[in-house]
Amino acid sequence: MRCKKCHEKAVIGLPRHNAAFCKPCFNEFVHDQVARAIKSERMFDPKDRILVAVSGGKDSLALWDILLKLGYRADALYVDLGIAGYSEKSCEKVERFADTVGKAHNASLLIHTVQEEEGAGIRELADLLHRPTCSACGTIKRYQFNRAAVEHDYDVMATGHNLDDEAARLLGNVLHWQDEYLDKQSPSLPASVEGFAKKVKPLYRLAEREIAAYAVLNRIDYIVEECPMAKGSKMLLYKEVLNRLETESPGTKQAFYWGFLEKQAKTQPAPASMAEKDQATLHPCATCGQPTTAEICSYCKMMARAKASTPH
Ligand code: SF4
Ligand code: ZN
Repeated sequence: MRCKKCHEKAVIGLPRHNAAFCKPCFNEFVHDQVARAIKSERMFDPKDRILVAVSGGKDSLALWDILLKLGYRADALYVDLGIAGYSEKSCEKVERFADTVGKAHNASLLIHTVQEEEGAGIRELADLLHRPTCSACGTIKRYQFNRAAVEHDYDVMATGHNLDDEAARLLGNVLHWQDEYLDKQSPSLPASVEGFAKKVKPLYRLAEREIAAYAVLNRIDYIVEECPMAKGSKMLLYKEVLNRLETESPGTKQAFYWGFLEKQAKTQPAPASMAEKDQATLHPCATCGQPTTAEICSYCKMMARAKASTPH
């Protein structure tokens, strides 16, 4: 197998692009896909300050690495969920990356510890609330990432969602006809109201396997295990189904998700009218001031319930 670009020995084949690459040309391909995503979705400019949500996994660390190497001003935020046997390891990976690659690019790492700030680890909190762990985790992470981005004056928040994540999410949304989620399933969501950070997904053009290869080839030390709470999740099932289709017919995920984005671009109302809609429905939470559609935001409601259920 020879590299499509330079004809040296290839290290990875990409059936969906009908191509194979050597290491330098593959790195160039990955950087180019991210640069195209940033440009076509108008995610950010070189002068913008970016906050990357990192988990210690391959996607978020690869994203931080790529943005720094492309010359962007990117810091990172890690949320320590306090999951015994998992959070310690993932935090260690993030800190090591921040001390090496991050430091070399003058980038800093912020850490939010759920145990300290919310009073208990995510599993204990979910138990108190009688809620699935992932649902409590989603509320906390969304809230804390937005808050950190706004409070520390970042222009945009970036997450490591890749093509597989977005295609699986799209499949879930389509299977249940979740119109509202479909409307918001874009790789770039503007900061429509005061207090809401702009959110972007610069890896949406890259498959999970391509990012794993990038991480390994560039010696990014990441946590290989999935979060133990992810076991049995619908997302993993949708990913398996899509992988099966991809093996039979390379390019399926890309055609599915990118096709959706193309249709969405033609039919979705202009960003200005979406912002108007947000401005009409969102207002500051009476407790914390972050934007919400209710009087009290879901995070504050959740924390008040957890407090009320804590044994004294
Ligand atoms: Fe949070 Fe669930 Fe994801 Fe683990 S799997 S990080 S608990 S949402
Ligand atoms: Zn609130």
